[in-house]
Amino acid sequence: MTLRILKILGLALAALILVIAVKTALYKAPDYAPADAAAMTPVTVDVDRIVANMAEAVTYETVAQHLVDPLAEGQFRGFLEWIETTYPAVHSTMDREMANLTPIYKWTGKNADAQPVLMTGHYDVVPAPEAERERWTHAPFAGETDAEFVWGRGTIDDKIGVIGLLEAAEMLIAEGFQPERTIYFIFGHDEEIGGANGAGAAVELLGSRGVQMAWSLDEGSMVLDDVLPGLPAPVASINVAEKGYVTLNITAKATGGHSSLPPSETAVGSLAVAVERLMANPVPGGLTDATAEFFDAVAPEFGMVQRVLFANQWLFRPVLEGVLSGSGPTNAMMRTTTAPTMLQASLTENVLPTEAVAVVNFRIHPRDTVESVIAHVESVIDDPDVEVSVRGEPTLPSPVSSSESEGFQLLAQATLGAFGDVILVPGLTVAGTDSKHFSKISDDSYRFNPMTFGPDDLSRIHGINERVSIADLERAVQFYAQIMMGVDG
Ligand SMILES: [Zn+2]
Repeated sequence: MTLRILKILGLALAALILVIAVKTALYKAPDYAPADAAAMTPVTVDVDRIVANMAEAVTYETVAQHLVDPLAEGQFRGFLEWIETTYPAVHSTMDREMANLTPIYKWTGKNADAQPVLMTGHYDVVPAPEAERERWTHAPFAGETDAEFVWGRGTIDDKIGVIGLLEAAEMLIAEGFQPERTIYFIFGHDEEIGGANGAGAAVELLGSRGVQMAWSLDEGSMVLDDVLPGLPAPVASINVAEKGYVTLNITAKATGGHSSLPPSETAVGSLAVAVERLMANPVPGGLTDATAEFFDAVAPEFGMVQRVLFANQWLFRPVLEGVLSGSGPTNAMMRTTTAPTMLQASLTENVLPTEAVAVVNFRIHPRDTVESVIAHVESVIDDPDVEVSVRGEPTLPSPVSSSESEGFQLLAQATLGAFGDVILVPGLTVAGTDSKHFSKISDDSYRFNPMTFGPDDLSRIHGINERVSIADLERAVQFYAQIMMGVDG
């Protein structure tokens, strides 16, 4: 009898191994790279000119946070005038109108009936605080270059987008080129503070005229080199969605009084318990939606162990989700994240507060809503003395754009043309971009900056020693030029 059970178990195990082996062997990445990618016309660009212009663009201190000061506006106006004189062909060929300090350029295509497309970047930058200046190897607004890099605030985020697009268009116009479809360009001036007066106003203006783009392209991801360990090639993540944003005030209430006679329950004590419960119970997530698309595309390229796991999600999904939730960047792709950022209670050391408040920022995964996040928070805290309220204006997660559209294919093609052998995947932007505005007037919205990004570059975004490589500047202009040449109706 025992022998028979062992035999059955043995057979079941063999069958299981066989299924796992077959599924692993058949596991294949979806092909996002169109067959004729290699056939794209190579584009030769004037690298010295691009580098010099990028360096000059950095010298304009277009810090959006400083716009409260009328003097700072001069830097923005100066940059806009510099565009006019540096890109005369763009300026004379295209129509330009302004949405506050954000220019909208319209490059009329040969085919008036075809749906237009939108290519964008933002020229505002985050501050470079005085206290950190001595840690910059090149002053943040000096616009210095060496043999490999252009250094300075805004090079990555996002003057490479603005300069890359302008250089590509200027070059093509000089060669007598006109696109098939009409191409709009929007260069936002306040992305870093939400984009309402720039991209938001521009979208409102175009939307009021019924302009609807086939697709839009904005910043939001890069070619990730060695960022996901274990992959044989860099990953170009063309992002099809972006997370939303809501901040909640978690307010614990109590009687208050003198600290010499504390009751067993205090506002600060209840708040601490509430925050602890929130951290211990993340918003549920998993390998679904845009996140699943990303890993389905990337996973077959991994080594054998990961391939076995991803190919057999019917069996190993809980293990995979546990592992991916363990690291910050992959966790952020999996779920709505919970980040307590501010605390406030008594102003005096010997007074018990009647209220203690924790401010918690959530980045909302496209599968969730503001309401579902609040419901999760309330059920996890589960304390009638703790109130949950929305702070400020939430942003909804974006719709998820198609990874099969003509637009996506064109971007994929141009990426392969400029960057060669990379793994192409659709992905999710975990922070916010101006695409939250652009998606209102675009059938599909894509987020991708044509630049390479290694593990030590993460801290340069909004950080110290921001820089862009000269090789990437060259590839960026090639990338944008190939897209402009490829937008047929
Ligand atoms: Zn940016």
